[in-house]
Amino acid sequence: MTLAFAAIAPISLASFIAHAKQAPAAPTSVQPTSVPSPAPTPAQNAAASQAAQPAAQAQRQSSSIVILDPAHGGTDLGARGASGIRESDLNLYFAAQVKIALEQNGFQVIQTRQGNENPSFDDRSAMANAQRGAVFVSLHVGSTGLPGTARVYVMSDLASATDSNGLIPWDRAQAPFLPLSRRFGDMVQGFLAQRFKGSPLNSQAAAVRQLRTTAAPAIAVEIASVAVDDRNVLDRMAPGIADAIARGCSGFRPLYVVAAVNPGDRP
Ligand SMILES: [Zn+2]
Repeated sequence: MTLAFAAIAPISLASFIAHAKQAPAAPTSVQPTSVPSPAPTPAQNAAASQAAQPAAQAQRQSSSIVILDPAHGGTDLGARGASGIRESDLNLYFAAQVKIALEQNGFQVIQTRQGNENPSFDDRSAMANAQRGAVFVSLHVGSTGLPGTARVYVMSDLASATDSNGLIPWDRAQAPFLPLSRRFGDMVQGFLAQRFKGSPLNSQAAAVRQLRTTAAPAIAVEIASVAVDDRNVLDRMAPGIADAIARGCSGFRPLYVVAAVNPGDRP
């Protein structure tokens, strides 16, 4: 399995990340949650504090920051191919090229890992949640799918709810951003489909653990696949992947500046 799914994740981190006034009202069918909260770490407090700033500031800052997440790492190798290909290595390789393409398009890029370390899901999300106006792109190479294609995933429906203090629980941080994430995902998927025939035309929804705790427009890009016999097949995809993601981020940027006034608004 290359994408960790939210359903299996512990929800012990019920730390809040944003005031409800930034978020849409909870659906009437969902009662506000009251999850016992462990004491937040200083890093979480900092992230929460910054995320709680008025959304207007996000508008001023625009979405010029991309949190680029080469998934897996460390002892987590991700998907592995019969030929010895390791996803965790490939993700770093793709990230390096995506970073260059993004910087050439005027984006500031923050990578969740630079080498073979393995930050936690929460640590990676916290890097995005500490920024205002950032977008989050997680990179994967899957074990399935037509080789030479790429798929974009966005988080599946996540009930937007607030706790008794009017705060959004950490493990639902993505909820207010889902409409934006879908637009962002469809845009990137569109460019990938142009470049890599056989790729889907629209992004797909899945319960991706990494996206769930991310308080920003967030997508996971999965490249197919580690099943190729020759790694060069994947390496040759890197410029196209980088270009498609950079175009998608550039295309999405003006939409996010407008929408950042209230990320929960449905377009
Ligand atoms: Zn993966």
